[in-house]
Amino acid sequence: MNFKEIIQEIYLKIKPIEDNGQLASYIPELANVNPENFGIHISTLDRVDFGIGNCYDKFSIQSIAKVLSLCLAYRIVGENLWERVGVEPSGTSFNSLVQLETDNGIPRNPFINAGAIVISDILISNLENPKEDFLAFVRSLSSNSELNYSRKIAASEKTVGFRNTALCNFIKSFGNIENDPSEVLDFYFDLCSLEMNCKELSALFLFLANDGKNIVDNNQILTKSQTKRINALMLTCGFYDESGDFAFKVGVPGKSGVGGGIVAVHPNQYSIAVWSPKLNEKGNSYKGMRFLEEFTTRSGLSIF
Ligand code: GLU
Repeated sequence: MNFKEIIQEIYLKIKPIEDNGQLASYIPELANVNPENFGIHISTLDRVDFGIGNCYDKFSIQSIAKVLSLCLAYRIVGENLWERVGVEPSGTSFNSLVQLETDNGIPRNPFINAGAIVISDILISNLENPKEDFLAFVRSLSSNSELNYSRKIAASEKTVGFRNTALCNFIKSFGNIENDPSEVLDFYFDLCSLEMNCKELSALFLFLANDGKNIVDNNQILTKSQTKRINALMLTCGFYDESGDFAFKVGVPGKSGVGGGIVAVHPNQYSIAVWSPKLNEKGNSYKGMRFLEEFTTRSGLSIF
């Protein structure tokens, strides 16, 4: 498979198309990026490593970090995790409060904000130094000791995090948050502020294409069964209220974030990261979605 040629061709085709998407300005600092940025990087199990465009520029991975916090919590508490958070697509927006009332404070899945806030609570209860330990986990996955939170982005989100504060307090009222909500939110905002580039992001997620094993040091991060479940969740819940569309058009597990990044994983083949900050009306990168649709079509490499 000539990934390089396929990626180059699709990049050149998608780059000039009109993008009517919008930057995620609800977090003020996220609007301070060049909306024209467009980068892609693929990492394969056969050691193909190829990137194009702004693939070396760091960006805010936002909700993509929810996969990493989920992996760490799953590693620590195992199947008990699913008593605190569900595994169903929500069919509502990422920051919605409505279902929590009827679901007694159990979020539908770990990728909506409510679910990621409960995962943050679980990590705080189980880690000695939650922020440092989570960062160490991410760094070890990527063999990159430079990865870090963005103080600026986290601080910016804290000034406008009213909905997340409401979610956390509401869930606490049902007894599904153990710790102080301000501590949980502080950790949640930090993990959302993680920054990296497409090369780092595709490399970081490659263990999910490799039955849970890090290809650099052979460390088993998750069991094969746990890895299957994380990939299943990314396929069914990874794209807000557009997950069905992504499965339909692209056909691989993935996760997007409001910073305009998308990472997609083909089990046993590759991990690919795309970044273009303008978002479509569902909150996913407009060009990122278009690129990945063409990529799996041209390469013939979807899971279906
Ligand atoms: N930090 C963002 C929020 O809580 C994450 C949103 C996202 O990327 O989906 O609103």
